Order: sequence, then C-alpha cells, then structure tokens
Amino acid sequence: MDWTRGQAIGHGSSATVSMAKANRSGQVFAVKSAELLKSESLQKEQSILSSLDCPQIVVYKGCDITNENGKLFYNLFLEYISGGTLIDAIREGGGCLDEAMIRLYARTILLGLEYLHCNGIVHCDIKGHNILVTGDGAKIADLGCAKRVDEASGTTPIAGTPLYMSPEVARGEHQGFPADIWAFGCTVVEMATGQAPWVNVSDPVSALYQIGFSGNMPEIPSFMSQQAKDFLSKCLKRDPEERWSASELLKHYFITDQEPDFVLKEIISRSNVNTPTCVLDQVLWDSIEELETTWDSTHKSSLVSPIERIKQLTEGNGEVPIWSWDDTWVTVRSNEQEMVPWCEDHNLAYDNSGAEIAWVSMEYDDFVFLIEPTNVCGNSKCKASSSGSCGDVWMPLLLMLWSLQPSHPQNFDSVSLHPPWSSS
Ligand code: ADP
Ligand code: MG
Repeated sequence: MDWTRGQAIGHGSSATVSMAKANRSGQVFAVKSAELLKSESLQKEQSILSSLDCPQIVVYKGCDITNENGKLFYNLFLEYISGGTLIDAIREGGGCLDEAMIRLYARTILLGLEYLHCNGIVHCDIKGHNILVTGDGAKIADLGCAKRVDEASGTTPIAGTPLYMSPEVARGEHQGFPADIWAFGCTVVEMATGQAPWVNVSDPVSALYQIGFSGNMPEIPSFMSQQAKDFLSKCLKRDPEERWSASELLKHYFITDQEPDFVLKEIISRSNVNTPTCVLDQVLWDSIEELETTWDSTHKSSLVSPIERIKQLTEGNGEVPIWSWDDTWVTVRSNEQEMVPWCEDHNLAYDNSGAEIAWVSMEYDDFVFLIEPTNVCGNSKCKASSSGSCGDVWMPLLLMLWSLQPSHPQNFDSVSLHPPWSSS
C-alpha cells in the first residue's frame, strides 16, 4: 500500500505514532514506527495484534518497511482513534473523571482484557497512556509488552511500567493475568484522581520497593462510592491468587449497575472525546516511562562464580565501586529499624592486594552486583552498587530487591542503591 506519513501524535518508550493517509483511498490511519534494527518489540506487537479481533482492542491494519532519509523503519498500521488516550480524557475532564465515565471505561477495558486473557495473552502494560478513548468507551492499545501465557510462565522478561506493577511483578516473580488486573485497578484510581498510583514515591526504585515489599496499597480514593471501593479492593489484592479475574469483575455490581447505553453515549458525546488531541505533552512520570526496559530474570550466567567474576572485573579495569557518599545514591529505605534479610550466597571479594572490597551478591551476565560490607563502613547502612557493563537500569534495582530474600537477616538503618546509569 502507498501511504504518506503525517504529523506525530504520540511518543512512547519504543516507537513514534504518527497519522498517515493511504494515497489511493485517502483513508486515514495511525502508523507506529521504529527503526528496523530496534523494532523487535514492534514486530512482536504485530504478531500478537494481527491475531486479535475484538471491538475493545485497537484494530491492526497491516505492516511494512520503509526507507526514510536513508534509514529503514518498521511500520505497524492501526486504526486511527481520534479521542486521544484516557490521560487526555482525564485532563479534558478537569483532572479526573466522574464515576459514570469511570464505570463505562472500566467495563470496556475489562471486556478487552477478558478477550486477551481468554486468548492466553497478558498485556503487561495497562495504564492510562495505553488506553484510547472512542465514542463507545475505551480500546486497549500498545501491545508492545504483551506476551502469550505459555511464554509468561517464567521464561520471558518482566516488562511494563513500574508504578502500575503488581507486587509479584515488582518482586520479579511472575507476570500473569492477575498482573493486568492490578494495573487495571491502578488505572481506575488514575481515572478518579487524575494521578498515577503511588503519588508519594519520588523515584522508580522506591516505587518498586514499596509495591513489592512494603505491604502498602495504592490509596483507594475516599470520595468514591462504596461500590467503587469494593470493586477496587477486588482488583488491588496483593495476593494474585485472590485477585478477581476480568470475567468476575465484569459481574461486579460496580460494572453491572451502569446507566443505560444511550445515557452513556450522551455523557461521552458531551465529553468531546472525538476532538483530536495532542499527546506530546506528557509530563508526569515520563522519566519512568523511559524505564520500560525489560529484564530477563532467568538469563543468569553460570560460567564463572561471582567471586571469580569480581576478580576479573577488578583486575581488568578497576571498576571497584566508589563507596563514598554523593548525590547519585538513592535511598530506598531509611530510618527504619527493620530487618533487612541478607542473601546466603554473598561472598567477600578481594582486590589485588588482598583487601576486602565488597560483598558479591547476584551475578547477571557480565555484570556483578556488589554490596558494601558492613564491617568496612562501620555503621548500619547497606549500600549496593554494580560493576561491569550494565546498560540496563532495571537490573541493579531488581537484583537489589531480589537479594532481600528472607534468608540471612541483618539490621540496617537504611538501604541505598548506587544507580550506575546516573554516575556516567
Ligand atoms: P509505545 O509502545 O511507544 O508506548 P503506544 O502504542 O503506547 O507506543 O503509542 C504511543 C502514543 O501514541 C499513545 O499514548 C497514544 O497517544 C498514541 N496512539 C497510539 N496508537 C494510536 C492510535 N491507533 N490512534 C491514535 N493515537 C494513537
Ligand atoms: Mg505506550
């Protein structure tokens, strides 16, 4: 098909979405493009999206490869949705949506999720930015992180956006259907408050820590109806086994007690969702969206022991962490006299002169995770850093969380991470 690219309408972490027009028919559609060499996830999205047929999921219309200004691009054609995202709708609604709208969007998102789950697909990145708004409700978009459930059972990377991750995902354990339901619950909170869940966290590290380990919950807005609160409590159960499924939630009275369809259509038409909106002005948590990097928890190198590996690293290029305190350290827990469990497989590592330099914790390919020995710092701080060519910002923090398994307890006043990405 011959087509012409129009203006950009959205940027995400992996691709740019533009308007496009078919040259012959004049038909308008959306095109999601990424450089061919970096289009693995877009191609995966194509393979999943092209197998789906559901009114509550954005419609796939084809794909091609183009040469633009000497660069090859992979393009995914989608139906163009003029109503913008749920975040745009929230903004246009004055910063939040009323419950009639929330019910309508919640029902249509759930219908899309029920379809995906019945077809063995986990979306893995449900949030307001990935839901598009139409005259009939909502449509699920951005299947860039989606996976088939047979892949999702243990061997595929954890993916998604930190603030919407369920506790089991934040801990790097498992990302199945219940993880989508948790993220959906967060999105309902987002519709009601206009804010992403976990408003009091300042960075993705502490967000993941809170979600995975603190036992805290995203706040369920007190001004919502009893029905809504009960509904949210079924979505936001920390135990994935207890979380309701999409099909069960569709039978919850918050969803079934809706206004008749014609009233809802009238509400939607008054809310102006068919006005095209610009989505280039994402501000909140954009930095976190950038961190939609995937992390493969199963891909650990078994070639050398951690102690051997740290020796190679310190002998090779002297990449011993600098333990002195500076602004690049991120404290993920402080002033808490809590037990921070210590992983059994930590070993002491030594530099060339035989001096103790660090505890060696987890190992991941050519990257070793280090924790400063408490006998060296002489206080009750636990500091963690990484060494080696770690390009993935998620690894250190997830490994840190992973290393806090309840095996070898030790007291610390604070736990801090040295993010390698901010030290360069
Ligand atoms: P990424 O995987 O990079 O996050 P998305 O698929 O989420 O990409 O698209 C990024 C943005 O582009 C969305 O938040 C939305 O604003 C816009 N967008 C995506 N698909 C469409 C579409 N079919 N019609 C209109 N806008 C779209
Ligand atoms: Mg997206």
